[in-house]
Amino acid sequence: MTTPLPPLDVWYCCDQTLCNFNCPYCAAGLVRSAHKGKMWAGNESAALYKKVIEWIAAQSGFEKGVRLQTFGEPFLCDAFLEGAAWLSHRANIRFVELVTNGSRLLQEYGPFAERAEADRITLWITYHATECDAETILKGALFAQSLGALVIINLLLFPQTLQAVLVMRDRCLEEGLKVHVDLGYLQQNIPIVHERPDIVSRLYQWPDVLAMHLTAAITPFGQACHAGQAFIRILENGYVAPCGPLGQGAGHPVRFGHVLDPDFHLAESLYKTPKACTHRAACRCKEEFLNFAVLQKKYVRQRSMGLVEPRDPGPATNDTDAIVGLGAAGLKLKKALIHHHRLTPPGSGQ
Ligand code: SF4
Ligand code: SF4
Repeated sequence: MTTPLPPLDVWYCCDQTLCNFNCPYCAAGLVRSAHKGKMWAGNESAALYKKVIEWIAAQSGFEKGVRLQTFGEPFLCDAFLEGAAWLSHRANIRFVELVTNGSRLLQEYGPFAERAEADRITLWITYHATECDAETILKGALFAQSLGALVIINLLLFPQTLQAVLVMRDRCLEEGLKVHVDLGYLQQNIPIVHERPDIVSRLYQWPDVLAMHLTAAITPFGQACHAGQAFIRILENGYVAPCGPLGQGAGHPVRFGHVLDPDFHLAESLYKTPKACTHRAACRCKEEFLNFAVLQKKYVRQRSMGLVEPRDPGPATNDTDAIVGLGAAGLKLKKALIHHHRLTPPGSGQ
């Protein structure tokens, strides 16, 4: 009898590039403008996407949670949705998570849910306050939730959109939608940390996750990390890596293999234990730094690559020790956090 492999989280970002929004902070802005108006970045992109989806399905022995991301808006792209729906029916799939701007759900989610295993679908809906009204997003989110999706509304904290985000947060809570509040990046900066650390410390759900987020945004070097052991990143070119920062690194990228290589066997390549991170620049994506061993001991990602829940559902702890990891960019925030948690008893619901 073969020993079952531990569960695997898979983050795949394909190069579907068309989007109906034009957010000023879009991290995929350069890629999208290079392929303006095109559904996919390259002529072979859609075919590679299909191969990758099939490769993920073929990895047997793992329980797999899969986040499918694009450089654009997936609910504009039928070929993308067809692949996601197909994957959701395959064996050993815990969830298929789609990252969307939420603007097309009223039109597109019904037909998609009919094709998919609807109760394995997670929707990570990021609210872009400059591009779309809140009520459209809410209606689409509630509609998808009514058809079985687990829905998370992701709110990005930027100084300019703070009021809109706060209003949206209240509306989501009124409507019974799960909310996730995150730091908005503007190129290499996180402006809200410098301008409104008080708001960050109040709205970011877990102080120790925040501390590690800010640590990773400076450098994760030396941190024990489960990337490559319980998590893989599939790059848009089909290479499989422990994570994006290592897999895309200049010079000597760390890659396990390519999905089109018939001799590549993932299970034999994965690390057996967490490894100390060797990346000296920032690790900015939540999907990736949430693999820090220190966080994985305490938190679990059940149905989403971005949302952590405590393994022990007891009262929230005031984990000020964890914020020792804060670097220079987080010093103001650290003070605000300590101050806030002196004033706020654990479990007060903030
Ligand atoms: S919705 Fe997403 S992909 Fe589209 S412009 Fe905004 S940030 Fe970029
Ligand atoms: S901390 Fe980030 S860069 Fe380092 S191994 Fe983990 S995911 Fe990769």
